[in-house]
Parts: sequence; C-alpha cells; structure tokens
Amino acid sequence: VTRQIAAAMEAALGPDMVSIEPTVLAAHSLDWQTDPQDAVLPIALVRPRTADDVAATVRLCREHGCAITVQGGLTGLAGGAVPSSNAVALSLDRMNAIEDVDPVGATISVQAGATLQQVQESAKSHGMLFPLDLGARGTCRIGGNIGTNAGGNHVLRYGMMRDLVLGLEAVLADGTVVTAMNRTLKNNAGYDLKHLFIGSEGTLGIITRAVLRLYDLPQAEHNALCALPNYDAVGRMLRLARRELGTTLNAFELMWPRYYEFASHMRGFQPFREPGSYYLLLEASGSARDAETFQAVMEQAIEGGLVTDGFIAQSLSEAASFWQLRDASGELRSHFWPNANFDISINTSQIGRFVEVLEKKIVERWPDAEVAVFGHVADGNVHIAVKTLQEPFPATEIEQSVYALVGKFNGSISAEHGIGLAKKIYLHHSRSPGELEMMRRLKAALDPAGVLNPGKVF
Ligand SMILES: Cc1cc2nc3c(=O)[nH]c(=O)nc-3n(C[C@H](O)[C@H](O)[C@H](O)COP(=O)(O)OP(=O)(O)OC[C@H]3O[C@@H](n4cnc5c(N)ncnc54)[C@H](O)[C@@H]3O)c2cc1C
Repeated sequence: VTRQIAAAMEAALGPDMVSIEPTVLAAHSLDWQTDPQDAVLPIALVRPRTADDVAATVRLCREHGCAITVQGGLTGLAGGAVPSSNAVALSLDRMNAIEDVDPVGATISVQAGATLQQVQESAKSHGMLFPLDLGARGTCRIGGNIGTNAGGNHVLRYGMMRDLVLGLEAVLADGTVVTAMNRTLKNNAGYDLKHLFIGSEGTLGIITRAVLRLYDLPQAEHNALCALPNYDAVGRMLRLARRELGTTLNAFELMWPRYYEFASHMRGFQPFREPGSYYLLLEASGSARDAETFQAVMEQAIEGGLVTDGFIAQSLSEAASFWQLRDASGELRSHFWPNANFDISINTSQIGRFVEVLEKKIVERWPDAEVAVFGHVADGNVHIAVKTLQEPFPATEIEQSVYALVGKFNGSISAEHGIGLAKKIYLHHSRSPGELEMMRRLKAALDPAGVLNPGKVF
C-alpha cells in the first residue's frame, strides 16, 4: 500500500519531489527532542516547490486515506513534527525564497521554508531587524516558527512570533490555498484568520508563505554577563533594567548554577573566578549613546549589591561568547542525558521559589538527580532539564511531579515549545474544558477527515 501511495505521488508530482529512500525517511522520522526509539518513519517524504504542489499532496493524502505531517527544520522540542502514523512527511526546505523586503513598510515576505537565520540576514542586509531569535536559528524554518508560535530571546521587547506575523498563506486540509498576505499592522476587516494557524503545530493548515514584521536595525548592541547573589537581586535587577533601559532592553536571560556549569564546560568559557548563585545575560540595543546608560545600570547594580561580578562586552565577538553560553542549551540533549525537560511559565516573581521547591522535591525522590535551569525569566519562562541515571528512566513520574508543582504555582505547561506529542496528556493542566472543546470543534471544522498531523496537541 505504501508503495502504491508513493507511486501515485510520484506520478502526480514528479519523481524528484517524492522519496522513499530508507535513510531519507529515517532523517525525517523525529525532531530534535524525540528519543530515537520513538521515531516514526513516514510513508514517503515530499519536498514541494510551490503552494500548488503542497495542495496536490494534501489532496492525494486525503484520497489515499493517509495523513500528512509538515516539517520545518525539525528543531522542535515537543514531537510536533514527528510523523503521525501512516503519514507522509512534507518538508518545505525547497520553498525557502525571500520574496520581498520593504524597509519603509517594515515588512519581509518569505516562503515558509526559509530558515530563521536567512530571514534575519536578509533583513539585516537592508538595514532592518527581524527580531525573533533562538538558538536553533540556523536550522529552524519560518513555517516551524509560526507553527509553534516560537518565543526566544527577545520576546520581552518584540513579542512572540504571533506579534511578528502580519499575514500568511496556508493550504487547508481539502487542498484550498488561503492567501492572507496582509502587510499592514491594522486590518480589522472581519476575522483575523492568521491566528488560527499560528501555534497550531501543523494541525489546521500548512503555512506556505508569510509577511513578517521588521524593525529598524539598532545602531549598537550592549551586552553584559553578570553573577547575582540571590533571586531577590534578580527581581530588583529586572526592575532596574526595565526602568533605566526602557524600550532598549532586549533580553534578560537567567542561568542557574548547574546549567551555567554545563554550558561553560561545553563551550570552554568560564569568565567568573567565584561561583555565583545566578548568572544573567543582559542585552540592550539602540544607539551608540546608550552605552553610557548601560554602563551606569551595571555600576548601580554593583553598588547596590545586586551584581557581585560582571562584564560588559567590549566587542561583538565578546558578546557572541556570552551568548554561546545561553545557546549551549541545544546540547543538553546529547550531553546531559537522559533527561526530562520542561518549558514552563510561572509568574516571574515566583520563579526563584518554584525552582528551589522543585529541586528539593526531585532530589528527595531521586538522590542522584541533577536539575539544569535557564530561561527567559522576564517573560516568566524557564526551561528545566532533570537528569537521572535511574533505570528505567522515570520520565512520567518526573513529568507528573513537575506539572503538579506548575499547577500549584498557577503556571503553564508550555510557554513556547508547544504541545506536540510530548505534552498532550498534560494539556488539561493549562487549558479549561471549554477551551479544549473549542479546539476540537475548530479541528473538526477545518480538517474533518483528520488529514493534517493527526494525534498532535490533543
Ligand atoms: C538549540 C535550540 C534552541 C531553541 N530555543 C527555542 C527558544 O528559545 N524558543 C522557542 O520558542 N523554541 C526554541 N526551540 C524550539 C524550536 O527551535 C522552535 O520550536 C522552532 O520554532 C521550530 O521550528 P522548526 O522549523 O524546526 O519546526 P519543526 O520542528 O520542523 O516543526 C515544529 C512544529 O511546527 C509544525 N510546522 C512546521 N512547519 C510548518 C508549516 N509550514 N506550517 C504549519 N506548521 C508547521 C510542525 O508540524 C510541528 O508541529 C529551540 C530548539 C533548539 C534545538
């Protein structure tokens, strides 16, 4: 049957668009986070060149009763891009054109297969900034960023992906191509349909193009890496930075000691002589004049005892070495393993306490456990990896204890990575029965046959 479907696709789309090569299928059987033992081989891999090719693939899948899982760069951390059972994997890697950059209108129009870095660089070459940024920038694709409503390092200033998408084009489950390439900030003409697709993890439509919002490129960037003595100092530092740096404040990334130790070891970069209780990466951007204000904030923080030691980057390469520490999170999967990892949000003022309680609870239950914590705390978002060598690895038990605590602190089980497969059974912790029912109704209305990435989210 599989061969028949692949043959029908080859006949309709052309042989260079369809592959059933086992090594190719294996490369499209899992995302960044998924354990190889949970990989799911797709029936075939389709690599379309146009939205019409995508529409034809969707129609073929419907006709043959198979599903379709759209994939971007496969850097997702929730299993959303792992092929559903009996599914064709659809990669948009060939649809990666930058169609238009409009510096005056402050927009960039792209195909959904463009990588995030490609979009950032293209904007930069026109003196503009596309502010979404995250460690997987070289590999993740705009379709995946929209499909997961990605967050990242600059949400504090520029918002999530949802805030950066002005318009898009998507292929529906019946093969209809819906073009909604709006280019303005204001458009209240009826329902704003793009929001249905943003964060829907490939379950409501396949995004093929997008119009994204740009900002003028800041003239200068200011970065500091500092050590802080306690969480009270973190909160006070955040208020100081918000008050004094205002809208130039871009990033406030916090690292707890175990994560910092891991990252500095991985990158061979250990700037502090004395260990700190928290490590903060602070970034502001604006004009060269802002350097004085940035320096003054750091001085004030040191005088006030909020920062015990710190460095202001003197060059872009020094700033990059600070950021390397934060970006080393991508290696937790290979070098801090086995772990159960979490992307949660909690009110910023309570994060310090939450982590303390959590660490205690985990170590009481699994004495060898190590807990690495880091995150975009100004957004209330922390990432947590819990490693233990217990066998079999107690993934479910760790998840239950973390999510129970998240519930007690009124947090969310997914701040930015989405639900995918990994967090499906916990979705009810963060969404009301009414919300879940409405999600089901939307799915049933837009995809009654369950063709698009079935089994994901709920
Ligand atoms: C080192 C590292 C750092 C990361 N940091 C962050 C971070 O700071 N913030 C953050 O939010 N995430 C982060 N992530 C997670 C991940 O990079 C993002 O979720 C990213 O947006 C996924 O993009 P992708 O192209 O790899 O998508 P994939 O993994 O391929 O797919 C993710 C989901 O989107 C759907 N999808 C893909 N393309 C489309 C499309 N064209 N139309 C509709 N749906 C689509 C898929 O079906 C799937 O459900 C990080 C990951 C790594 C490895």
